[in-house]
Amino acid sequence: MDLSFYNSLTRRVEPLRPLVPGTVRMYTCGPTVYNYAHIGNFRAYMFEDLLRRTLEYAGLAVTHVMNLTDVDDKTIRGSRAAGVPLRDYTATYKKAFFEDLDTLGIERATVYPAATDHVPEMIALIGKLFEKGYAYQAPDKSVYFSVAKDPDYGKLAHLDRSGMRASVRISNDEYAKDDVGDFALWKAWDEADGDVKWDSPWGPGRPGWHIECSAMSAKYLGETFDIHTGGIDNLFPHHENEIAQAECATGKPFVKLWMHCAHLRVDGEKMSKSAGNFYTLRDLLAKGYTGREIRYVLLGGHYRQPLNFAFDALAASRTALSRIDEFTVRMEALAATAGGPVGSPDGQAPSWPDKHLESFASALADDLNSPLAFAAVFALVNEGNRLAQAGSLDAAGAAAALAALAKMDAVLGVLARPAAAIPAEVQALLDERAAVRRAKNWAESDRLRDAIAALGWTVKDTKDGPRLSKS
Ligand code: AMP
Ligand code: ZN
Repeated sequence: MDLSFYNSLTRRVEPLRPLVPGTVRMYTCGPTVYNYAHIGNFRAYMFEDLLRRTLEYAGLAVTHVMNLTDVDDKTIRGSRAAGVPLRDYTATYKKAFFEDLDTLGIERATVYPAATDHVPEMIALIGKLFEKGYAYQAPDKSVYFSVAKDPDYGKLAHLDRSGMRASVRISNDEYAKDDVGDFALWKAWDEADGDVKWDSPWGPGRPGWHIECSAMSAKYLGETFDIHTGGIDNLFPHHENEIAQAECATGKPFVKLWMHCAHLRVDGEKMSKSAGNFYTLRDLLAKGYTGREIRYVLLGGHYRQPLNFAFDALAASRTALSRIDEFTVRMEALAATAGGPVGSPDGQAPSWPDKHLESFASALADDLNSPLAFAAVFALVNEGNRLAQAGSLDAAGAAAALAALAKMDAVLGVLARPAAAIPAEVQALLDERAAVRRAKNWAESDRLRDAIAALGWTVKDTKDGPRLSKS
């Protein structure tokens, strides 16, 4: 499976050529843990989940690092307003973030380094930039990166440097920085920071946001790695600044492939905390939608196209998912039957789903085309239903459909039918039945099976124990 992705740096779709064959090292800008993430943020994490699962589907071993920004203006402001220490304040939202990832079926990254655990690494990196002449301390005691010293600055955002320098040069002392394009590497402590500060060679303060990603990616992935991702709003200035810091400090290329997802919008506008047009995952769960339905909506659009959030789309996802679930139930029933028309003139070879798996893989290999990948899923469902209707699908053919769905689901994580929750009443009867069976009281066991059946559930005794399903 040859993968190609759009590279924001070159603005072209390029074949993926990992630096170490068979492996991919990937870094993602994670959440600022000052509040619950909204589903616009989760669009970005969902795209990264799809990317990561696609890489794994193609047989690559992925090391995925996602940082947690647990110190910045917003986290400090929030913790002071709440009157709790920064660490306790951010711990609440870190926990919520991981719960939300689970609700959405987003797989865990390999490591989630937190900024506050890596301040020495950031200080060391700033020190290197000083040594090489890229950093300076301003009269306000903060340390800045001098954009004018880096001839490559602007290569990701394709900035016109000549125009930029002429227009932004600041000649008076209104700004502490030499140039408005310069960005903080180290922010000198001030009163608004309260007790949040670290010692450094430049005085007490805290790291700037950009330096954390350059320092932590180098620590966990090395100075040069394969893929860096984020939402499109991270591209400038954040990612541009990450490149400047890393490449000026090491003299080596930072990242080969830059991938960015487009925004989730509401009525044509970016969903954001500041615009107030956002829903958290919890808001939507409270309205009765499931993580699976929200996942389906977020995966449904191509990651480089803006996606409009609407409740109609959530309703449509419910219909689409029940179509898939009905298909699964039908195939499970067929797969459990013995024999069938295999080898007969209208029988299907068990390889019949292969063409759908091929279209599925080639859609994803072509810059993560998830809408086309879902089209392959529905082509499988439609053909399977047609064959079943015509009576030309035997147990092996149905089992092949289930196997193909499971393969697709390793990437999509949304196709598997959720297990129905077992009501407490049924569970109690089931437990009681297990006890009477241990005592070999078969008559009571049968009575309890009938009582369970009267509640709409079927118990089958298998060699692995009782199996419960909805009648
Ligand atoms: P933040 O916590 O604001 O740094 O954002 C975390 C991630 O969510 C970043 O990758 C952002 O680019 C991304 N993001 C923020 N808003 C949206 C949106 N409306 N649609 C897609 N991604 C977003
Ligand atoms: Zn970052």
